[in-house]
Amino acid sequence: RESQIEEIRATIETKNVELLHMQFVDIEGTLKHVTVTSEQLDQVVNGQVMFDGSSITGFTPINQSDLYLTPDLNTFAVLPWTEEDGYSEARFLCSVKKPDGSDFLGDPRNVLKETVKRAEEKGYSINVGPELEFFLFETDEEGQPTLKTQDVGGYFEPSPKDNGEKVRLAIYKALKKMGFTIEASHHEVAIGQHEINFKYADALGAADAATTYKWVVKTVAGQYGLHATFMPKPLAGANGSGMHTNISLFDTEKQENAFFDDADELGLSETAYQFIAGLIDNVKDFVAVTNPLVNSYKRLVPGYEAPCYIAWSASNRSALIRIPATRGAGTRVEIRCPDPSANPYFAFAVVASAGLDGVERELTAPPAINDDIFSMSRQECFERGIQNLPTNLESALDHFESGKIGRNTLGEHAYTEYVELKRGEWDDFRTTVSDWEVAAYQAKF
Ligand code: GLU
Ligand code: MG
Ligand code: MG
Repeated sequence: RESQIEEIRATIETKNVELLHMQFVDIEGTLKHVTVTSEQLDQVVNGQVMFDGSSITGFTPINQSDLYLTPDLNTFAVLPWTEEDGYSEARFLCSVKKPDGSDFLGDPRNVLKETVKRAEEKGYSINVGPELEFFLFETDEEGQPTLKTQDVGGYFEPSPKDNGEKVRLAIYKALKKMGFTIEASHHEVAIGQHEINFKYADALGAADAATTYKWVVKTVAGQYGLHATFMPKPLAGANGSGMHTNISLFDTEKQENAFFDDADELGLSETAYQFIAGLIDNVKDFVAVTNPLVNSYKRLVPGYEAPCYIAWSASNRSALIRIPATRGAGTRVEIRCPDPSANPYFAFAVVASAGLDGVERELTAPPAINDDIFSMSRQECFERGIQNLPTNLESALDHFESGKIGRNTLGEHAYTEYVELKRGEWDDFRTTVSDWEVAAYQAKF
């Protein structure tokens, strides 16, 4: 730790870092930060930076509002877009502590750490590789986002059709300088839709990366006069944006991927099948976390490569769970329902807990569905035992509250705050009279 601090001190010196942003997320996964000067590095690393927890969504009541930030030294990064001659800024991602020095369990980073700890006790570390899609939209004269895009690209199409290529390149460069290993970058299926993939990491590292990625994408896009959005379904009739989550367990004793078994027909271990079974068994109860918005459920409809039925397959992109072709150390399951508006700390925590629950209870996975589920009739789905994911936020919240996985994973504080926030959001939506209703009913009735 001392040597890591010295390294940071040296970087501050050579890069002329003047300001340090102390970052954390609220229960929606929204990034927050308080900025201090780099002269305060000693106080920073000693966890002495304080803030008002009562002003952060889902944190503390006003009468117990003081909270402290403890930076994770591994997340120190100079912000490439702030670098000028003789000036730059840097950031830390932080965990939140109470004045008595204990972890504040309303902090999503701490919630995920608890899940990681529970997995470790069972002999596993969790690896996660998320794929976050986003749209780039033009802004208007006032700088407000529009739904316009000059881009006419489709899947994998290059410029000039892909109007976002130069922005993606700039995002790539910024992320790389901040320590990301970028694996691929491409235009997605919808116009104006993009994806940049980074290397998997342990669950906490992956959630930190997803949080940082969203911030960097928005920041760099803004420099090009574009608005980047991780809203799951900005355009009706076009593909939405997913956050496919690749996940695997690593057996810490045997030092190997716990999902791989050469002897199995599909190359999957008993643990992998149980994990899949756990995901299938628990998914309805956790989509309120992986798909947190009213808008999230407009993505989960047939025909747009997003899942809507609860099934798994080794290849099928219409299934909820897919097993990418890689085997050996790269063996993993890909769960396709999460979207990038989810709080990545909570999302990876519930997905991991759900899978581990299957391992613990030694559940049996249902048979794989290798046919195109989108083209099946409701009757056929019913006969083959394929269930629907919840189709709106209210139904997702009903499952979330009646199931166990949400409460057990988020812990009492975060769970209670989350439910209250999301019920409020649903109430707001359901009492709003939408343009669609007026158009459909006003003249007719
Ligand atoms: N955009 C699709 C979704 O909503 C996924 C496309 C893909 O397979 O990358 O999940
Ligand atoms: Mg994609
Ligand atoms: Mg994918």
